[in-house]
Amino acid sequence: MKRNTEREELLRIPIQMKLQYRFPAGAHYERFFRELKKTGKIMGIKCPECERVLVPPRPVCGECFTRTGEWVEVGPKGTVVAHTSIYFPFIDGSTGKPRPIPYGAGLIQLDGAYSAINHILEEGDPDKLHIGMRVEAMLKEKREGNIGDILYFKTIEE
Ligand SMILES: [Zn+2]
Repeated sequence: MKRNTEREELLRIPIQMKLQYRFPAGAHYERFFRELKKTGKIMGIKCPECERVLVPPRPVCGECFTRTGEWVEVGPKGTVVAHTSIYFPFIDGSTGKPRPIPYGAGLIQLDGAYSAINHILEEGDPDKLHIGMRVEAMLKEKREGNIGDILYFKTIEE
């Protein structure tokens, strides 16, 4: 069977949608994003029972079902605990333009945190991505109070 190795141009269907809606972030996400915007600090919340630091913060610890309490700064450095390379060209909501492929995405366990957050990795080469690689959050200069304030996680050498 002969394989077609030529790539066809992607079919583009222009659609304009006007969607306006708002939803409350909730007390924990609100504090998390306000701190990120104002100071650039990434905050977690500590469970008083098992002492795990949860990022993103949540009102109840999923491990021991105890109400969380103390806010603590985590990161901005962390360790990749899972990763993938993405070759699907989609429109980046933060820029309105196609994101160059491939790019990496992963779960990053920030220093001082028990849980991990999902975010974009600077490294997209699957041969260079590995579990245990060290990364650091790169923040927007003009932050807006959302997860896009972390632009991506840059690979660091330590
Ligand atoms: Zn707990």
